[in-house]
Amino acid sequence: MAIPFIDLAAQKARIGASIESAVLRSSITAPISWGPEVRTFEADMARFAGSTHCLSCANGTDAIELILLGLGVGKGDAVFCPAFTFVATAEVVPMTGAEPCFIDIQPDTYNIDPAKLDDAIEAVKTEGRLKPAAIVAVDLFGQPADYPALSVIAKKHGLHLICDSAQGFGCTIDGQQPLDWCVATATSFYPAKPLGCYGDGGAVVTNDAALYERMVSFRVHGGATATDAATMNYTHEAKYLNVRIGMNSRLDTIQAAILIEKLNIFAEEIALRQTVAARYNELLQDKVAAVPFVKLGYVSTGRNIPSSITIATACRPTSASQASRRRSINPIPLHQQPGYSLFASGTGDLAVAEAKAKTVISLPFSPYLDEATQDEIIAAVCELQRLGGHGV
Ligand SMILES: *Cc1c(COP(=O)(O)O)cnc(C)c1O
Repeated sequence: MAIPFIDLAAQKARIGASIESAVLRSSITAPISWGPEVRTFEADMARFAGSTHCLSCANGTDAIELILLGLGVGKGDAVFCPAFTFVATAEVVPMTGAEPCFIDIQPDTYNIDPAKLDDAIEAVKTEGRLKPAAIVAVDLFGQPADYPALSVIAKKHGLHLICDSAQGFGCTIDGQQPLDWCVATATSFYPAKPLGCYGDGGAVVTNDAALYERMVSFRVHGGATATDAATMNYTHEAKYLNVRIGMNSRLDTIQAAILIEKLNIFAEEIALRQTVAARYNELLQDKVAAVPFVKLGYVSTGRNIPSSITIATACRPTSASQASRRRSINPIPLHQQPGYSLFASGTGDLAVAEAKAKTVISLPFSPYLDEATQDEIIAAVCELQRLGGHGV
């Protein structure tokens, strides 16, 4: 039997009934768009994240763009992001008029390399064509980026530090969450993410009230905020006063109703993920080139939210049967993607990102992966190693 890459059915078996009644309730009682569930979910998210504000939106990509727009990032600005990530991290940058600059990753965590970032910022400053404006760090595969080091660099150069936690929402370093170092955290509720809904959704959490207010405006067509309205003369409703060029990025009411139920069990699912991930690491560590590495300080008191189990292999298997069980999530680093070849990379080559893109693959993973299925996956990895003869 084919093993699903992410087993959504197991979670549905557990809380499916409460989700179904929440969906029915929301669609019977709420207005078609932006029902009360959206507000309730935003309040629940802010509580979970320990933030003063949560802004829900249509997807994780918009969440990152809303942060950049809210911070005023645009034409003439450089935004630094890792070369090894899902494309959405960089995609939103040219949408604001700014340019992405791709930075190599650390070989152990797969996250943006702070030393190389610092060099790249200096190089952009020396070149003088663009003004360094922001860093978008990514919690790839659920592991927090090195925020303590990144925030020192951001402060030194006067840049905004933004967290793309679509794959790691809820992760912490020594009990502190990315938001303790960043101006805002973006996340996605795409079903495959750690906290997923049944369609598309996204959110930003932040403690910056002024940024939140501007993002509220950009989220729905750039309508006037209370601050805008206080300084302007108008005779109609403030929402029809379009102060900025915005977008339409509402979270759907039904998705909010589903997310309220899912957030209730999210902390418990994080713990389950860690148990499943630890077992993968233990059983695979002497069988593959590298199992997921989690920084020691991060493990003892921090929370890694494994969103996928990514192992390094000696060569990437390509046959259809192999691909059915294992996936390479980021097979091409962003600086090598045709749509992004125009943009700059940090100083030197991006050798680590290029090497990892060729050798890492992700295994089926969910908080509910049972040991028998997991053993079957591990056996398949070992079998491939025997057949391939040069490691998996
Ligand atoms: C999934 C993802 C996004 C985008 O989220 P969507 O909801 O699909 O728009 C952004 N960044 C990273 C790292 C992601 O994995």
